[in-house]
Amino acid sequence: MPGGGHNRGMALGEFDLIETFFRPPVRRAVLGGGDDCALLQPAAGMQLAVSTDMLVEGRHFLSTVAPEHLGHKALAVNLSDLAACGAEPMAFTLALCLPRAEAAFLAPLARGMLALAEQHGIELVGGDTTAGPLALSITVLGQVPAGQALLRSGASPGDELWVSGTLGDARLALEGFRGTVCLPGDAFTQVRRAMECPEPRVALGQALRGVASAAIDLSDGLLGDLRHVLARSGVGATLWLDALPRSAWLAAQPAAVQQQCLLGGGDDYELLFTAPAAASAAVQAAAARAGTPVTRIGAITPAAQGLQVLPQAGSDAPLDLSGWAGFDHFRSA
Ligand code: ADP
Ligand code: MG
Repeated sequence: MPGGGHNRGMALGEFDLIETFFRPPVRRAVLGGGDDCALLQPAAGMQLAVSTDMLVEGRHFLSTVAPEHLGHKALAVNLSDLAACGAEPMAFTLALCLPRAEAAFLAPLARGMLALAEQHGIELVGGDTTAGPLALSITVLGQVPAGQALLRSGASPGDELWVSGTLGDARLALEGFRGTVCLPGDAFTQVRRAMECPEPRVALGQALRGVASAAIDLSDGLLGDLRHVLARSGVGATLWLDALPRSAWLAAQPAAVQQQCLLGGGDDYELLFTAPAAASAAVQAAAARAGTPVTRIGAITPAAQGLQVLPQAGSDAPLDLSGWAGFDHFRSA
């Protein structure tokens, strides 16, 4: 696109800005930024895994977020998609829409993003920069052995349902910002970290190749994302509410808040996956290899049973999900 006109009061034009903050040297890519295309070389026998996620100010993040955390999160949510497919991250591109070209904002943004990139051995190889309302769109590229990607479509009745980490803290933090929950001192700091600095489960995703039958990363809330797996796999599921892993600070909240954050949360960036019951030990071994805790939270059932949430395993009194919107603690508050 044509350059120029983006800098207001700063001696930072489009190309200075890219050169200064978003043109790290590359070792792994055949060619990084600076030409019309970057060039990557997937290893022999590997398929390319590609995913894009955009973050828009006011919708996906609050203006109060530290730029360093924003840079981290923009890349983290994309890496989470590669994790869900069991892919190994290779490179990413960054499309930036900026109201102003300010080094005080861009330097920490780039630092947060590139630190996470470094941690995962992934390189920034290009992008696009334009003036406008603040938004960041990242495309990640990864590789996965041909035919081994984890998909949403592989779950079968009888499979066990698992989740990594804990659920609901990011939503709890959002409610803390909104003032609908009471979060004493340290709790707010901790859950705010979950919201602003999620750690994508990249190692777990790769460790689950050949073990999990289906997987998805949790970005829009457990029930909503589980429904995607059920639809793509043509199955139903039973979830156990009391088995859902939660932090001590969420566990200290009233039951209705816990339920809303766990089931409807959003922004968890944990992996939800299924595996045959016979693979239970292999799941635990994969989790140990990845250094990521996993918890069994239910079972896959025939499609006719739909999605059921039980207070605990073995209960015969499922929650009434038809009233789900009705008992949204926050919307009705
Ligand atoms: P073109 O007009 O050919 O699309 P641009 O002028 O938009 O190229 O960008 C010039 C170079 O800078 C390209 O190699 C592009 O990939 C890179 N680039 C542009 N914006 C960014 C960004 N936000 N982060 C990283 N690289 C970028
Ligand atoms: Mg361009």
